[in-house]
Amino acid sequence: ILARGRDVCKRNGLLILSVLSVTVGCLLGFFLRTRRLSPQEISYFQFPGELLMRMLKMLILPLVVSSLMSGLASLDAKTSSRLGILTVAYYLWTTFVAVIVGIIMVSIIHPGGAAQKETTEQSGKPIMSSADPLLDLIRNMFPANLVEATFKQYRTKTTPVVKSPTVASEEAPSRRILIYGVQGENGSRVQNFALDLTPPPEVVYKSEPGTSDGMNVLGIVIFSATMGIMLGRMGDSGAPLVSFCQCLNESVMKIVAVAVWYFPFGIVFLIAGKILEMDNPTTVGKKLGFYAVTVVCGLVVHGLFILPLLYFFITKKNPIVFIRGILQALLIALATSSSSATLPITFKCLLENNHIDRRIARFVLPVGATINMDGTALYEAVAAIFIAQVNNYELDFGQIITISITATAASIGAAGIPQAGLVTMVIVLTSVGLPTDDITLIIAVDWALDRFRTMINVLGDALAAGIMAHVCRKDFAQDTGTEKPLPCET
Ligand code: ASP
Repeated sequence: ILARGRDVCKRNGLLILSVLSVTVGCLLGFFLRTRRLSPQEISYFQFPGELLMRMLKMLILPLVVSSLMSGLASLDAKTSSRLGILTVAYYLWTTFVAVIVGIIMVSIIHPGGAAQKETTEQSGKPIMSSADPLLDLIRNMFPANLVEATFKQYRTKTTPVVKSPTVASEEAPSRRILIYGVQGENGSRVQNFALDLTPPPEVVYKSEPGTSDGMNVLGIVIFSATMGIMLGRMGDSGAPLVSFCQCLNESVMKIVAVAVWYFPFGIVFLIAGKILEMDNPTTVGKKLGFYAVTVVCGLVVHGLFILPLLYFFITKKNPIVFIRGILQALLIALATSSSSATLPITFKCLLENNHIDRRIARFVLPVGATINMDGTALYEAVAAIFIAQVNNYELDFGQIITISITATAASIGAAGIPQAGLVTMVIVLTSVGLPTDDITLIIAVDWALDRFRTMINVLGDALAAGIMAHVCRKDFAQDTGTEKPLPCET
């Protein structure tokens, strides 16, 4: 028994460490909350977690570029277009199913009730409206400057413009009323009051195309995929660049193999640091609590039943075994709230534990981390309908259909970074005329829900790779050997 135990620990050491670190992180976070650390102490405490995020982010760019370019270049035109069409169709379909699950859950649980709005913490930021996020999505697909795309993405900025009164101040009639000599109850206090009746200046919001910090992964994915397809068509003349990308991809994976040993340590501080930062859980209202439960139930149904069943029916393989292979990636998704940052670990798990053909993983995973977000789509639909319920706004069937389509589009537009879904939710709300300012109603719990939906996003990408590996197995069996050996391997 001891020998078997040792063997299990040896094979699953990293996974066991990761599970332990999530538990320790939660316990440590709740314990330290009682110590009332100062903001500066909290920021020092979060440093090891910040390092983990930095390491993961550092790997995204070389990994996405090298995997897409080398992956697509090594496929012939027929195989790459079949894989591309099947993958994108599968992604769209499962995202739409996730939205339907969300709509059913929110209709059954009805978390918004029919009572008054609950007040939650206001963000204080103006929320943009109209089609701006959709235009930003299209702008991001075609970055004007590739170097800039590695650290900036397009995001329309909304700024308040104060319309000052046009009348000159000396001409403007005074709207001030002064009340003198009001006597206090005990007859000793005399107070003066001034009542200012001047109307407040009108504030309008102006939207301007702009950029914000953060990598434009969508633009980089589109560019790298196009380059990969072209390199594949170029034949021998494209070979040097292809082998460079293959070598780069291998070396990034070798860095990942070393870096993963730091991750359990980083996860402890990442999770505990977030718990230290969060608002007091008792301030979360009842309706908001029900809303959070609705999102989590929807995610559980989609992630633990629908997607695994789909995997089972298509591949006839055991989904539990598959999910066990990617557990470490799911834990990293929980800790980081970012499917892009989790990408290197998802790769590692799929190649090493689930033995997915690397040519498939190199295409399906980066594209999935960018456009396939089942968890985000489900959450966007639930949140939009919750906001309608809170406002006593009855949605008709046509509006429900609109929400399902726009929630799918909004999840495609969301970047694989923390709380990106909150920004693209404007698309869903404006499509059915709901107040975009009400996004502030759900901000208080979003940081927690983001972690769970990111796990489902990563799970969806990984299962898609498993399904594509099965569906396209014949193409890839015939193609074996077309991928040139790496220069660093020969
Ligand atoms: N954090 C999510 C992800 O990275 C996106 C979101 O829903 O905000 O997949």
